[in-house]
Amino acid sequence: MAVLNRLIRSAVAARSPALTFSSLSSSIKDPSFPATTGRTAAAERNVQWVFLGCPGVGKGTYASRLSSLLGVPHIATGDLVREELNSSGPLSKQLAEIVNQGKLVSDEIIIKLLSKRLEEGGARGESGFILDGFPRTLRQAEILDGVTEIDLVINLKLREDVLLEKCLGRRICSQCGGNFNIANINIKGENGRPDLSMAPLLPPSHCASKLIARSDDTEPVVKERLRIYHELSQPVEDFYRKQGKLLEFELPGGIPESWPKLLHALNLDDHDDKQSAAA
Ligand code: AMP
Repeated sequence: MAVLNRLIRSAVAARSPALTFSSLSSSIKDPSFPATTGRTAAAERNVQWVFLGCPGVGKGTYASRLSSLLGVPHIATGDLVREELNSSGPLSKQLAEIVNQGKLVSDEIIIKLLSKRLEEGGARGESGFILDGFPRTLRQAEILDGVTEIDLVINLKLREDVLLEKCLGRRICSQCGGNFNIANINIKGENGRPDLSMAPLLPPSHCASKLIARSDDTEPVVKERLRIYHELSQPVEDFYRKQGKLLEFELPGGIPESWPKLLHALNLDDHDDKQSAAA
């Protein structure tokens, strides 16, 4: 841990490539990336994008779709934490306690897990990434900024009253790992706000009897996660806003309404066909 702490300190202080995020650069697969990205950096390699947004907003859903579309790995730090938590590794018990209270894991641990994932991906020849759930604190954003160039930060937004319901409706197939949502959201628009409908994302019949909920998707824990998100997210958003990299995207509804609009906002309309068929 002492070595890691030193790495983090030097990355923040000296902005040196102390951590391993930068090892992922290589040639670009698709040169037609959005004008919103930092083109100088993106022109020479695959995209390095970040998804911000409250728990339950749908970061995983859209990050994973974009990852398939662009051929870059979707790296969710929450998944890395859950993998470690379910392993017999030394951090397992400590992580379970933190996650089940809805608290954040320390920057040191999360950077260690992320660095390991990036290193493994680099060794497999992965290039570029879509980060989901990282950075969550200003310090994490600064560390990331010190070690690699982020091209674009997509800040997903959804009305607050829907987020809790979306988290409570989330289900995972214990066999195939597929993500579903049984929440059926229909809110009548008022005070100038439009109606909001989000159909449930139901599992195929072979997954239906194997659905489980995340242990941190209970009402009190989701409320705590939302509280912490609101407390810490503003400086992270400001950090990227000042760099001109923040793309705010308000979800207009479920996947069928939101996905084409998101692609449009990203200048990726041409890529729509393949994935809308799968929606
Ligand atoms: P998520 O799946 O993104 O909701 O993350 C699940 C849990 O993993 C969070 O509630 C935190 O305990 C932990 N976690 C994920 N990403 C981070 C991060 N960037 N910093 C600190 N803790 C994190």
